[in-house]
Amino acid sequence: MPNSVLEFNELTITQISDGHTFMSNSVFPDYAASRDNLSIEGNFELPISAFLIQGMGRNILVDTGSAGNFGPNAGRFCENLAETGLHPDEIDTIFLTHLHSDHYGGLRNRIGVAAFPKARLKLSTIEWRRVHDQDLIAKMSEEDRAGLNRIHSFLEPYRARTDLVQDGDEIMAGLRVVALPGHTAGHSGLVAQSGTQKILILGDIFHNPAYQLANPSLSVIYDDDPEQAARTRVEVLSQAAISDTILAGAHLGSHNFIKIENHETGFRQK
Ligand SMILES: [Zn+2]
Repeated sequence: MPNSVLEFNELTITQISDGHTFMSNSVFPDYAASRDNLSIEGNFELPISAFLIQGMGRNILVDTGSAGNFGPNAGRFCENLAETGLHPDEIDTIFLTHLHSDHYGGLRNRIGVAAFPKARLKLSTIEWRRVHDQDLIAKMSEEDRAGLNRIHSFLEPYRARTDLVQDGDEIMAGLRVVALPGHTAGHSGLVAQSGTQKILILGDIFHNPAYQLANPSLSVIYDDDPEQAARTRVEVLSQAAISDTILAGAHLGSHNFIKIENHETGFRQK
């Protein structure tokens, strides 16, 4: 999929596709159970994207793709970023929406060093604590601890240049962090505003816009707190419909840069 671009005032926002993978409908247990015509064995396509925000001399990445851990159709983030003409040295900031491997996978290159040697890493304080909480780590299974070790190994090359951020913090003039808890405790997005115009990069609020726009209370099994994720989704989408906000997300694929409106008990793309 070619990179798609949105000009937003002084910002150029480019969707950098990492490719796609397939997921079972069973990741939406409530949806599959409520639909006679939807086989729980069925799959849907999960696009994976990161974003490049440019303006005022800055080159900011939002997430870094999966680095090939999501099957043969994913892992294209680096080559698609290269298509923009930017060299990895020119990325000054990486904002991670959360610490799942389809978002942090491109932080390191194949030999384990920082893929973006000059970038500062911006990460939610809550998300950082989530993966460094010694009490929690002590109670983890061996498998979960191995997953955590992997996260630490990707953060390590950026240790000396990591800034912890929270809701409302400015990444650059006019671009702020917005807390979107539920998918993970520190899951966050970015909002850019100019006058009444707004764009929200919303991380993993959606894994399937077709299902979750129509029924925003549907969470996936990967949401750490499914009820909080649903509350956040409903709140964000309600506000987006009222304020005519442009939405972009890691798993929206070709549905990126959309506006939504209320429809029946949920929403639909305008
Ligand atoms: Zn994701």
